[in-house]
Amino acid sequence: MERIYIGMGSNLADPAEQLRSAVEALAHLPQSRWVGVSAFYQSDSLLPGQPRYTNAVAAIDSNLAPLALLDALQAIETDQGRERLERWGPRTLDLDILLFGDRLIDEPRLKVPHYHMHARPFVLYPLAELAPASLTLADGRSLQQLLNDCPYVGLERLAPGAESNQ
Ligand code: ATP
Ligand code: MG
Ligand code: MG
Repeated sequence: MERIYIGMGSNLADPAEQLRSAVEALAHLPQSRWVGVSAFYQSDSLLPGQPRYTNAVAAIDSNLAPLALLDALQAIETDQGRERLERWGPRTLDLDILLFGDRLIDEPRLKVPHYHMHARPFVLYPLAELAPASLTLADGRSLQQLLNDCPYVGLERLAPGAESNQ
């Protein structure tokens, strides 16, 4: 099995509830074992005029092939009402594969490590809750280095349990 980190985000239709439903779905993926989820974090959208986002990172161990996992994640997004209207538009649920073991994947449908994770505090800080401090990406960058270069700005970490009221 390989350790896989999945970035989750939502800014429509009760985002915290969307993430809880996604956790439930991820915990039941075939050929996979649930590992855990970070706290939930809120932040303003990077694009003006959108509702605030709620984000978290989940970890699973899996025997699924990368594209099979991507298919399963996209099916969960669709089940939870994701509509692909515009790039980076508001969404009920976004599930991105951040890291897949120590693989470097460069296929038309799948790039891993996720190409924007190094610049996104709402990905790196929840990831750091789950991943070992010594984690190094397949491209040689250490998580600690990425955190040092990505200030903790604009993030509101929801107290454990409090996310149910957001
Ligand atoms: P961003 O990639 O900037 O976070 P997004 O998550 O909103 O944007 P989506 O509309 O969810 O983008 O996905 C667009 C396409 O990205 C998907 O159809 C998928 O094939 C591709 N993709 C490439 N790499 C990944 C990855 N690591 N995880 C998920 N999807 C990926
Ligand atoms: Mg995304
Ligand atoms: Mg996505």
